[in-house]
Amino acid sequence: MSEVRTGLGWDVHRLAPGRPLILGGVTIPSEFGLEGHSDADILSHAITDALLGAASLGDIGMHFPDSDPAWKGADSARFLAHAARLVRQAGYTIWNVDATVILERPRLKDHRVPMCESIARTLGIELDRVSVKFKTAERVGPVGEGRSAEAQAIVTLAK
Ligand code: MG
Repeated sequence: MSEVRTGLGWDVHRLAPGRPLILGGVTIPSEFGLEGHSDADILSHAITDALLGAASLGDIGMHFPDSDPAWKGADSARFLAHAARLVRQAGYTIWNVDATVILERPRLKDHRVPMCESIARTLGIELDRVSVKFKTAERVGPVGEGRSAEAQAIVTLAK
């Protein structure tokens, strides 16, 4: 490997009743879900931005503007798959993905494996290269009060 690159991603969406809660392409049973133009999958959005960032290819808003009706209600796996395609076209291999979801409830630990499997499948990488972690915000701030949820991701690419 002659070149190793790292990218950082972060996302936040509001929580609202009656919306689906989709994280890493997996629908989680919940009374509250994430609001947004697309399916509002914060985890997929954070990883998409980390991929784009690692390859210096801009950000998710540049590639998929939320003013574009084509992305209304979009499955964010499409964003993730597109970003993976772009970094491969730029000559990189996706080495690993590590992410954290910060959400007060529901508890997510039982959904870890399906989320990692879904992300690995979408990115076309082995399951052991994907890590997803969960935290609450200890009832503090907008996340802790259940008004929003956040995700952070870091991606390493190699060429
Ligand atoms: Mg987003």
